[in-house]
Amino acid sequence: MDSNQFRDAAASAIDEIVNYYDTIEDRRVVSNVEPGYLKKLLPDAPPQEGESWAEIQKDIESKIMPGLTHWQSPNFMAFFPASSTYPSMLGELYSAAFTAPAFNWICSPAVTELETVVMDWLAKLLNLPDCYLSTTHGGGVIQGSASEAVVTVMVAARDKYLRETTAELSGLELEDAIMHKRSKMVALGSEMAHSSIQKAAQICGVRYRSIPTTRANNFAMTGDAVEKTILECKSQGLEPFFLAATLGTTSTCSVDDFGAIASTVAKHAPPDVPGEIWVHVDAAYAGAALVCPEYQHLTASFQHFHSFEMNMHKWLLTNFDAGCLFVRKRKDLIDALSITPAYLRNEFSESGLVTDYRDWQIPLGRRFRSLKIWFVLRTYGVLGLQAHIRKHVKMGEFFHSLLKSRSDLFEVVTGPSFALTVFNIVPKTQGKEEQDKITKAVYELVNERGEIYITHSVIAGIYVIRVVSANPLAEEKYMKKAFDVLVDTTEELRDGKAS
Ligand code: PLP
Repeated sequence: MDSNQFRDAAASAIDEIVNYYDTIEDRRVVSNVEPGYLKKLLPDAPPQEGESWAEIQKDIESKIMPGLTHWQSPNFMAFFPASSTYPSMLGELYSAAFTAPAFNWICSPAVTELETVVMDWLAKLLNLPDCYLSTTHGGGVIQGSASEAVVTVMVAARDKYLRETTAELSGLELEDAIMHKRSKMVALGSEMAHSSIQKAAQICGVRYRSIPTTRANNFAMTGDAVEKTILECKSQGLEPFFLAATLGTTSTCSVDDFGAIASTVAKHAPPDVPGEIWVHVDAAYAGAALVCPEYQHLTASFQHFHSFEMNMHKWLLTNFDAGCLFVRKRKDLIDALSITPAYLRNEFSESGLVTDYRDWQIPLGRRFRSLKIWFVLRTYGVLGLQAHIRKHVKMGEFFHSLLKSRSDLFEVVTGPSFALTVFNIVPKTQGKEEQDKITKAVYELVNERGEIYITHSVIAGIYVIRVVSANPLAEEKYMKKAFDVLVDTTEELRDGKAS
């Protein structure tokens, strides 16, 4: 493909993409293809002769589209959203054009320097304490996902803990102590924490304990529960070294009690003392709301914590992937992740004047992801981002009020919290089993019909439905449609009314 062919192909692709977005609400939101559908439609091997773009592009609509679940459809209310916007897509386009695995500063200084600038912008926008800024001892780094971020900081926490608690030892004695300690180290997270925390512990080769929550506390992790678990672990000879707190849990968007957690942790493993517990805040989805002053009180304790992560690609108008990880002490990451063979050495890195982000992450190479964040921050501005969040929060309240207006059919379990409402169906005859059964049946039929797409969860043993109103294209009319679909399906299944 030469430059002229690229210009035509790109114009045609962009036309198709714009048309896709303009008509997306008409598509069935969740794909209903059979597993293995695509293999049947494609040849067994690539073509011998190259094909024209026109030939290739045709297959998008006929072969790929049927197998897409349309996350950008306003009828998609499942999981948490995956934002996509035109400015962000332009960032992806330029990033692809400038492709470079820019692991060291000299590999493309703009890649590193723009990342530092936009991550500092973002830290200020989210009201993170100054210790998370690159101008102090901290800084931000873009990762692929919240899961990748938590593995990265857990590795840093593990190595810091081992280094600091064995500092007096050397030789074989040191090796033995490290082996012994590693077998006793335990990472903690609430039972509502995302599964990525447990997965990180699995990858890091440490134990994991989950901390119970209660409905009375709105499924938030409390200081008391943290204390109880720390004491239990210690009484078993285990060494807690990492705690994940959540701002916006996946099932219910609960917010852990950060203030109480900070004081509890300080009591048992004071910060900046060898053996401290590294506290990571997972704000993958709801962290986006921190752009609004009305949520910024939530960061009040963050100067006592060690790291924070939010995904711009969930609720802040940026295409996947844009996981934004901030650490209070960048040295902790670098100490754990920096290995410099001769071929990675260069005068700029040696000068100590530049950042080499390869030392802040697991992979070596990295994409130019700050471009899309920069484009989004500049296109929407702070006021635009705040309006975006507030619009969705308001729609969550609207949806919640609709559910409340039919309390004969729906029981709200939690929310609306950060545009997520969690509810179940009121059964015809009393009983938890009956309630779980009808809730599951309604949930499954709604998704099978594919007019809207929602997700479920099980919390405290209760089967619940989650509806999120944070899709970039969300509007009240779609929330009302979702409500009508839920009413009709419930009346059909529960009361035998034809819809
Ligand atoms: N943390 C929370 C609270 C989440 O809700 C999710 C996913 O929805 C994750 C972490 C994992 O996100 P990622 O896909 O970026 O790893």
